[in-house]
Amino acid sequence: MLFGRRKKNPIKLADKGVMEWKYATCSYCSVGCSIEIGLNSEGRAVTTRGVGGADVNRGKLCIKGLSEAQIFEASGRGSEPLIRGKIFEPWQSCAWDEALDKTADEFKRIQEKYGRDAVAVVSTGQIMTEEFYTLGKLVRGVIGTNNYDGNTTLCMASAVSGYKRSFGSDGPPGCYDDFEHTECLLAFGSNLPEQHPIIYWRLKEALDKRKFPVIVVDPRVTMFAQFADIHLAITPGTDLVLLNALAHVILDEGLQDVEYLEQHCNGFAQMRELVQLYNPVYAAKICGIDEDTIRNVARLYAKADSAMSIWTMGINQSTHGSDGVCAINNLNLITGNMGKPGGTSLSITGQCNAMGTREWSSCSGLPGYRQLENENHRKEVAAVWGVDPALFPSERGLAQTDIFPAIEAGEIKALWLVATNPMTSMANSPRIRKTLEKLEFCVVQDSYQDAESVQYAHVFLPGAVWAEKEGCFTNTERRVNITRASQPPFAQSKPDGWIFTQLARRWQRGRAMQWAETPEQTFEEMKRLSCADGVNSPGANGSPRMLDISGMTYDKIERARGLQWPFRESDAQQGKVVGTARLYSDGEFQFPDGKARLLALPYIENNELPCGDFPFWLNSGRVVEHFHTRTKTGKIGNCNKFSPTAYMEINPDAAAEQGVEHMQYVRLVSRRGDAIVLAQLTQRVPYNMVFIPFHFHECVNRLSLGLLDPHSRQPAFKQSAVRIEACDQAEAARTNAAMRTF
Ligand code: SF4
Repeated sequence: MLFGRRKKNPIKLADKGVMEWKYATCSYCSVGCSIEIGLNSEGRAVTTRGVGGADVNRGKLCIKGLSEAQIFEASGRGSEPLIRGKIFEPWQSCAWDEALDKTADEFKRIQEKYGRDAVAVVSTGQIMTEEFYTLGKLVRGVIGTNNYDGNTTLCMASAVSGYKRSFGSDGPPGCYDDFEHTECLLAFGSNLPEQHPIIYWRLKEALDKRKFPVIVVDPRVTMFAQFADIHLAITPGTDLVLLNALAHVILDEGLQDVEYLEQHCNGFAQMRELVQLYNPVYAAKICGIDEDTIRNVARLYAKADSAMSIWTMGINQSTHGSDGVCAINNLNLITGNMGKPGGTSLSITGQCNAMGTREWSSCSGLPGYRQLENENHRKEVAAVWGVDPALFPSERGLAQTDIFPAIEAGEIKALWLVATNPMTSMANSPRIRKTLEKLEFCVVQDSYQDAESVQYAHVFLPGAVWAEKEGCFTNTERRVNITRASQPPFAQSKPDGWIFTQLARRWQRGRAMQWAETPEQTFEEMKRLSCADGVNSPGANGSPRMLDISGMTYDKIERARGLQWPFRESDAQQGKVVGTARLYSDGEFQFPDGKARLLALPYIENNELPCGDFPFWLNSGRVVEHFHTRTKTGKIGNCNKFSPTAYMEINPDAAAEQGVEHMQYVRLVSRRGDAIVLAQLTQRVPYNMVFIPFHFHECVNRLSLGLLDPHSRQPAFKQSAVRIEACDQAEAARTNAAMRTF
């Protein structure tokens, strides 16, 4: 018998006629891959390739990056500004001036009638950092509303909150290079191969050279869990109990790093007292991990010379998200795993520029990790912007998840959505729909006119996408990387930064302020605010400001394929060509006394739990082919081909009991609403859980509850209760086809 091919038939790459390659940073996830866009003789993007010399991805790209050239001319691009009197009426095309005048006039009218904060702004993690900075300048310095947030509250707010509570500042302390040094990796709620494929490849590369234990904590047998040495199939929402129990074992057995604790941490006594309550026998009953495994994992972690923790939404999207992050930080502080190669707490961010909005957008503070609560910070920013510091509030306003209830309560009358799509991304979408219908005025600014939230807008502003403009993103490991404009904006769409400055000039205050003409000029303004130079205050502990980008220039960033902050003017003067790989290597944290805080974190059960009427946990997450609400990937050939529709994973035993067959449609019902999904029978989920990818409109978020974390205001997307009902197969197939709007 013959095996293999009889004839050689090599795969041939089609000649795409590339005449020029332009440098960029991938615009999907926070891994931050360096990418080149191939342009043909007409200057049209025809392909992409990874950049070999880039430290992040070393020439590789995932399916999304490989097909990214298709986003420029994908269907649904917004080609011109649109306007209408009432939602659901037909759109009228209009000139930019008319759309911007209408937007400014409506904001002014509503603020005069109801007060400054009656206008709310919800932005994104998708636009350039320079655009975030400009948006912040417009919202805080011109429009003057305090109800301003980013959609990053749905994904990273708990990490931000946890970093601030433990270390005194936001800022992921570690980097991808830590995989090369660690002796133990503990991953919480992170399906790395599907969510962040190139980071996973970096991990595999490190494991190929040197074996170390990989422990994955996840209620589901994810792809990552299948590759792990130990999989802890935890009960949803109980990570805090497991983390307290791990700390309990470490302290009980004297495995802590006593010297590190004494020199660099506060709060040890209170934390020890709390974790004493979480012995593994007690914890096992709540978190579902047996006591021996808890002890083994604690010993493995504490005895490793360096150990690191990574996490994503399994921790963040929880009513205990912020506490979970602090508990991870506790674990690393008591074992002395902070700021050293292979020893860190590294949140893996979601969107390509979720970090950029955290750093520079002013949505929860002021630029450069400044705080609204700090008078000096308000004065510094006001001086650079040329505004009265009294314009700034002394505390942050509503988070995105509180803005929608405030619309419902009639406190907010106008909403500006910038590159975000709450009709698909927010929990309990039936309620969000009614909320959006209540607005007196809604403006949506997006590259895609068919994003579901546009249905509720009175004005649509078409934004340019990704490499139709220039600017920087910051990735998960604090690496600032650049995208060069490879082509002009589609049709009449405009760069978001242009839209912000044009809108600003419609206020007298805005006309009196200086607005940069180019993204590079904006970057120079940000650099001035980033360093402690006698005008700006130093970091909270008296040391130089942490988020210092003063040594960077666009050319240096491109040459280095990204620079990790801090990268100071003095670094540049010394001829350094790489940034700072790790934070807190000197053991100096961002609290006034320079010490980190260990926190006592009691677990309080406060979620919706499965019950007789709704017997299944509803879990959600990503698939590798899609990004967020599919505004982009839903139109891209292979992404859509490989993942065309929503589905539900169900355990075969549960399916048999419910009378559900593989590839049969079912109706899922929660206390919020219902959704039709296609059943996939798999052992990846336990008997009492179903899993649905979150990307699809009119699906998982019709069901989800989304209770909020008290510190971060992030919703618990992954912990709701549902039941399964039979449905008419032909009707379900028709409904499902109609839902696939792209
Ligand atoms: Fe883009 Fe993320 Fe894929 Fe890299 S891993 S190519 S950044 S989507």
